[in-house]
Amino acid sequence: ILTVERLTRRFGSLLAVDGVGLGVGAEEFFALLGPSGCGKTTLLRMIAGFEIADAGRILIDGQDVTATRPNRRPVNMMFQSYALFPHMTVAQNVAYGLEAEGVAGGEVRRRVGDMLALTLLSDLAGRRPAQLSGGQRQRVALARALVKRPRLLLLDEPLSALDRRLREQMQLELKRMQREIGIAFVVVTHDQEEALVMSDRIAVLDRGRIAQLGTPAEVYERPRNRFAARFLGQMN
Ligand code: ATP
Repeated sequence: ILTVERLTRRFGSLLAVDGVGLGVGAEEFFALLGPSGCGKTTLLRMIAGFEIADAGRILIDGQDVTATRPNRRPVNMMFQSYALFPHMTVAQNVAYGLEAEGVAGGEVRRRVGDMLALTLLSDLAGRRPAQLSGGQRQRVALARALVKRPRLLLLDEPLSALDRRLREQMQLELKRMQREIGIAFVVVTHDQEEALVMSDRIAVLDRGRIAQLGTPAEVYERPRNRFAARFLGQMN
């Protein structure tokens, strides 16, 4: 579903993303893992179209979208701050994007109902964001991103605002939802355990480059170079 070729982004003299190439399958859960400043968010924002590539190509579904505006790309992005509308109910928050696109009322209700069921929010449909826990808010943001049925969802540190217990629970839920609807997720995280639990494959980034790419077993059991080994905590 996603192919990235030699993608590069500079900020002044800093190469934030340095010739990255990778591919993500249609129903794959893919993690971009690495320490702060390694370029994860910049890479994700380039895939979404919020950041322009200095060089390289991005293909989604075989279509070159490198120069395509964000709202014209067949992807959706979920941000760190969930950015829910405080004056709207859960159901209204989820429905908003569909209504803005002019989807008919009955269809909106049906799709919102399906999404609330998937994200375990049906009983909370009438509440406002302020009346929800952190994990519930996170699920509303997810429902809102998924209701538009993107083929690819980009998530920037989706669980970082949650406490440890909730985070562990949501790791499994994220994975379940991704499986149930069968779309591709690309998730940015600095948390190795999170990447290990959720992902089909992981790319470890180091100063804008891919230090290692593979399944969790490949990445954790056989770190390919010193950086990957050190970051994964197998050397001092
Ligand atoms: P974090 O987890 O801390 O967000 P990250 O791995 O997502 O880190 P990026 O946010 O992609 O890293 O940043 C990569 C590098 O590019 C960093 O050194 C950052 O300071 C720099 N950078 C990011 N955005 C800009 C910008 N708009 N202008 C200048 N430098 C930037």
